[in-house]
Amino acid sequence: MTNKPHLTFDLNIPGVSTGYLVVPEGTDHETLSLPVFYCNKGEGPRLLITGGCHGNELEGPIVARRLVDWLPKAQTCGKVIILPELNPLAVRAWTRNTPADGLDLNRVFPGRVEGSVTERIADAVSRVLVPSVETIFDLHSFGPDWEFPPASITHPVADADLMAKTLQMTEAFKLPVTLLWERDDTPGMFDTFAHSQGKVFVCAEFGGGTVGAVSLSIYEAGVRNALIALGLVEGKAEFPSFRHQKSGQTLETLSSDFLISPVPGIFEPRCAALDIVKKGDLLGILHSMDTLSADPQIIYAPAGSTVCAIRSGAHVEANERLVYLSRPLKL
Ligand SMILES: [Zn+2]
Repeated sequence: MTNKPHLTFDLNIPGVSTGYLVVPEGTDHETLSLPVFYCNKGEGPRLLITGGCHGNELEGPIVARRLVDWLPKAQTCGKVIILPELNPLAVRAWTRNTPADGLDLNRVFPGRVEGSVTERIADAVSRVLVPSVETIFDLHSFGPDWEFPPASITHPVADADLMAKTLQMTEAFKLPVTLLWERDDTPGMFDTFAHSQGKVFVCAEFGGGTVGAVSLSIYEAGVRNALIALGLVEGKAEFPSFRHQKSGQTLETLSSDFLISPVPGIFEPRCAALDIVKKGDLLGILHSMDTLSADPQIIYAPAGSTVCAIRSGAHVEANERLVYLSRPLKL
């Protein structure tokens, strides 16, 4: 019995295989066996689809599970690996981070073989799965306390050729929003590691975190569009209908493009994701609940922009993010 991370099946076997990505035991947790689906139709694009990186974002695991059902018939070439739940420990707890070690899986890549359980999951994915593909779709949601449109997201990549290929793949989802999201240097993200390995990496995101039939069908349509664009599946890509929009838009949000809460309180949104606002427009009101004599804090738009994401239904502490602003991407 090997103590290295490994797959329980051979990626050279044609046709459909199912098995496990085995994450070895450590001092903090026993061996994990993550279910993996694989469809090998020979030459062609090689794709890894992952869901459940964050345990409170469940659209991804559901859409990944749906793909397992229809992909064997629809896939015409290439190789697709699907791992619906990257972090089953967090999914079962419905938490972003792993309860066992408190770590965010999307902050520990490429992981450590001798690390805690979250780091060992990242290590197994980095070493066993990532080298086998050239494209990765990581299916997230924006979390349960944000309103965020269905979107495919990527972050800026220094390599211009990889950036162009990645943005093209991101737009191929044909979701209501394609977002180029500039992040401050956040260490340990799966996409940063994948990009460093020359892979095209796209995140799908979706606001709300409350899984509903409409949002799931939009999400699944986006992934299907991307599979069609890769040539793995035949068919015609179509924009999923969302608020009567007939087409998507490509936006960018910079690392400075968010507004924070000046005080703790309950945030009342006064606009919606994708609203176009002018400087000075009312975005929301922050109600301090400690006293009824304090004036509510009014959150205004600092400049003309498109609202990209807005907090919903959440008590916030001071200095938490309330709104992400964005604008059409100009290359
Ligand atoms: Zn996530």
